[in-house]
Amino acid sequence: CGIFGVIGVGDAANFVALGLHALQHRGQEAGGIVSHDPNSGFNSARRFGYVRDNFTKADVMSTLPGPLAIGHVRYSTAGSKGATAIRDVQPFFGEFSMGGAAIAHNGNLTNAAALRRELIERGSIFQSSSDSECIIHLMARSIQKTIPERMKDALRRVEGAFSVVAMTRTKLIGVRDPLGVRPLVLGRLGDQAWALSSETCALDIVGAEFVREIEPGEMVVIEDGKITSTRPFGAPASRFCIFEQVYFSRPDSIIGGRSVYETRRQIGVELAREAPVEADLVCPVPDSGTPAAIGYAHESGIPFGMGIIRNQYMGRTFIEPTESIRNMGVRLKLNVNRALIKGKRVILVDDSVVRGTTSRKIKDMILDAGAAEVHFRIASPPTAWPCFYGVDTPERSKLLAATMSEDEMRDWIGVNSLKFISLDGLYRAAGEAGGRDPKAPKFCDACFSGDYPIVPSDKVEEGFEM
Ligand code: 5GP
Ligand code: SF4
Ligand code: MG
Repeated sequence: CGIFGVIGVGDAANFVALGLHALQHRGQEAGGIVSHDPNSGFNSARRFGYVRDNFTKADVMSTLPGPLAIGHVRYSTAGSKGATAIRDVQPFFGEFSMGGAAIAHNGNLTNAAALRRELIERGSIFQSSSDSECIIHLMARSIQKTIPERMKDALRRVEGAFSVVAMTRTKLIGVRDPLGVRPLVLGRLGDQAWALSSETCALDIVGAEFVREIEPGEMVVIEDGKITSTRPFGAPASRFCIFEQVYFSRPDSIIGGRSVYETRRQIGVELAREAPVEADLVCPVPDSGTPAAIGYAHESGIPFGMGIIRNQYMGRTFIEPTESIRNMGVRLKLNVNRALIKGKRVILVDDSVVRGTTSRKIKDMILDAGAAEVHFRIASPPTAWPCFYGVDTPERSKLLAATMSEDEMRDWIGVNSLKFISLDGLYRAAGEAGGRDPKAPKFCDACFSGDYPIVPSDKVEEGFEM
């Protein structure tokens, strides 16, 4: 999901709408904005579909006045499968003795099922099926006197990955979980106004200056143009999601002081060193494989070419939650550039192999177009484990790499060769010159390594074996 908040501008909701539009790649199912205005109080709008189709219209935006607003774009993850109901669309709102608060959450809580059971037993009435709603109910039960203090109480009880943007009548609040699994950054608009965003690309769109990342385990409270920072959860070593670097974030964002584009290009360089092959053309599976293909071509000296053309009016395929739509998605989105491919030995570069259905269809398309050979190079290690922290990887039985060896995957997809970048190569590309330190890995890489930095306790209770 993507989250964005602004305080201190005349029409905050318009800034949030722009920010969410720049974060649309993080969630395409639905979006919501809550604003506050001293005259009319809290207002909200929640809609299915793209930001640009909903939060550009005067009849929606005119209902969201005020200098303070937050918003959310949704992509349903492990916690809440299937079709999104409008009641699951964030931000969520709660009314407390000291006033109202709205929260928008990116990530997945790993003890939400247990918390929900406990809260329902004690009288909470849940409105949605979302794990994030637990935070509101925990806040309602806290005995603290201020909303930020109640949020701290609530967030000390949840486990998992959370970046949160929240607001009261007068405050904009940002929090990252102790390991900083999901991103959150701070931006500045002039002297008095501030923005919080999942990624820096959304600061750019509103003309905000990137100040810094919210640190893992940090809470910032912004009021009257001033920021206060606290660390409610202690400060263990951070474990940012390495898959944000590979795929999830936009390439024009800056993470950990590095351009995501540069990291991805460097993945391609590492791949070319680790897995060279004789060929005539390096071709990305667009858009997610493009920067890595550029790096691969550069390092190998093999010409780069756009052998697959992407229809720009299609969104991200994997974010469509049902299998049948995803199956169609490949052809709706990608087509082969026959004139370029015919008779060539082609290296195809993609970001990941999850179920393998995409790779298999692309291989068919490339061979139909007359390619002489097809070699797959993948910009991440084999995805062998599900993510429980906010990315929608399927259960283990549906992951190709959980059920097959690399050679079996090559034969199942039906290509001449298939190679994945090593975990060490990926870490080097992400700026860790020494590769992955197994005693203290810098990133979460559980979907590749099975090394889960946070015990997924709900899943363990359901029988998941780590
Ligand atoms: P699959 O191998 O399941 O057919 O899909 C892999 C493609 O989906 C890749 O091209 C990649 O761009 C995209 N993808 C990236 N991340 C994920 C993810 O977390 N889950 C799924 N299902 N697909 C992803
Ligand atoms: Fe990211 Fe994978 Fe960790 Fe999930 S399991 S947070 S996708 S690195
Ligand atoms: Mg892709």
